Amino acid sequence: MGKTAAIIGAGIGGLAAALRLRTKGYQVEVYEQAAGPGGKIKEIRMNGFRFDTGPSLFTFPALVDELFSLFGENPGRFFRHQQLDSSCKYFWDDGTTINAWQNPTLFSQEIEQATGAKGDCVLTYLRESKELYDIAGDTFIFHSLHNPSNYFTPSFLKTLLNIWKLDPLRTLHDRNRACLKNPKLVQIFDRYATYNGSSPYKTPSTLRMIAHLEHNTGAHFPRKGMFDIVASLERLAVAKGVKFHYNARVETILTKNSQVQGVRVNGLDYPFNLVLSDVDVVNLYNNLLSGVPLPENQTKQQRSSSAVIFYWGINKAFPNMQLHNILFSNNYRAEFDHLFETRTMSSDPTVYVFISSKIIPEDAPEGMENWYVMVNAPEDTGLNRKILINETRSKILEKIRHTLRIDLTDHIVAEAVADPQSIESETGSYKGSLYGLSSNNIWAAFNRHPNFSSKIKGLYFVGGSVHPGGGIPLCMASAKIIDKEIPSVK
Ligand code: FAD
Repeated sequence: MGKTAAIIGAGIGGLAAALRLRTKGYQVEVYEQAAGPGGKIKEIRMNGFRFDTGPSLFTFPALVDELFSLFGENPGRFFRHQQLDSSCKYFWDDGTTINAWQNPTLFSQEIEQATGAKGDCVLTYLRESKELYDIAGDTFIFHSLHNPSNYFTPSFLKTLLNIWKLDPLRTLHDRNRACLKNPKLVQIFDRYATYNGSSPYKTPSTLRMIAHLEHNTGAHFPRKGMFDIVASLERLAVAKGVKFHYNARVETILTKNSQVQGVRVNGLDYPFNLVLSDVDVVNLYNNLLSGVPLPENQTKQQRSSSAVIFYWGINKAFPNMQLHNILFSNNYRAEFDHLFETRTMSSDPTVYVFISSKIIPEDAPEGMENWYVMVNAPEDTGLNRKILINETRSKILEKIRHTLRIDLTDHIVAEAVADPQSIESETGSYKGSLYGLSSNNIWAAFNRHPNFSSKIKGLYFVGGSVHPGGGIPLCMASAKIIDKEIPSVK
């Protein structure tokens, strides 16, 4: 029998890692505590509506397509996606709207018409964010920062020689203010800090490379919705011989003499040569590994934000809305002070509305829409859930009434809700944070947990709580990193 690998967790990182280990010749088995794959990428159906419940923005689809190509398969046979014309429509209380067209000329014109600011500054900004990605993306996203040999590669040298262009000592907000000046443009580009659950007033301006992924490589959407990303990867994995065990919570990672031995599930021990975890590392050290303490930096670094999300079936259609919509807070700084300082909910939160039925009509009954309405929330601080949900619901409805001039109350015909506590209980994400550790200081990239254990041989890590961080593209990148770190057994 060949070498065997157990994957704990069928989130996007676990699925990508399972496929990559399979191509390396391992017999792979995935143990997932839930009834199906996806982790944070899930869907629910109610009263004729379908909702993606977690991620909604899909960038860097090439990382998903690549997994099909690794097996010589045509990605389009399993999974199809389309590039969007506009990545988001932004709304402010004063009636201003800006459509972030993917076509740079249209985006620039839209900015000039809506704000009077010169659209050119945004085009320059996007060119610079591409340059930054070209300088630092490979080093920080696709290589382990914990393997010393990676510090002697051409990629690292290129980053080092251009380190000043990363501008890590300035915050994203300060950089945006200096480049873009117009407060509405600054707010649009500050928002990219939230793509990994951080504050633009704390995160280094290096994160402006996220704008490159959304605007230059493009915002996409899967033809059948976000859940199809994981559903199609699971189909591919099954076709290629990966075994899945659902409703199978791993209780312990078995070790002997600092070497992985296997996993214990439902009281039974299963031997494996290698164990790879897609579980939040805090949860993993606290519950699955005995005798190895959680590294201190994992609790010292601030966690990323969480969210409160309402999934509303709406019995009306709103032509003014798009797939992705943002209703901005009037006081963005105060919103982030609430999230990361006082750890309370802002009285005027930025509201995100995602309506997949805009491009997948089957996601809602005819003439109706599926509104996924989300506000950022602090990680779980023990707030009473009922109070948190009721207060947030009222604030959101008020914001929609004020900014969009729509009274939604009487149009909600179906409702479900997610909050920090439900996110933690359903996905094992410590305190319900969406993206593991935040990037709220310049050392964040180095403080994320490595992709391999230096204490236990044969133990590897992928997913949003480890290097290079949260979000679908980075979780996929973590699987690419372990692909380089684990030798082939073919
Ligand atoms: P996870 O999804 O965290 O899955 C881990 C899996 O491990 C779970 O299935 C869990 O059940 C399982 N597990 C845990 N413990 C055990 C155990 N003991 N035994 C067996 N199984 C176990 N990203 C984007 O790119 N774009 C977005 O628009 C976006 N929006 C988001 C909105 C929300 C509301 C949320 C929640 C997340 C969002 N993200 C977004 C982040 C993205 O969803 C995550 O970074 C990513 O899906 C995490 O994947 P993962 O590999 O870390 O695994």
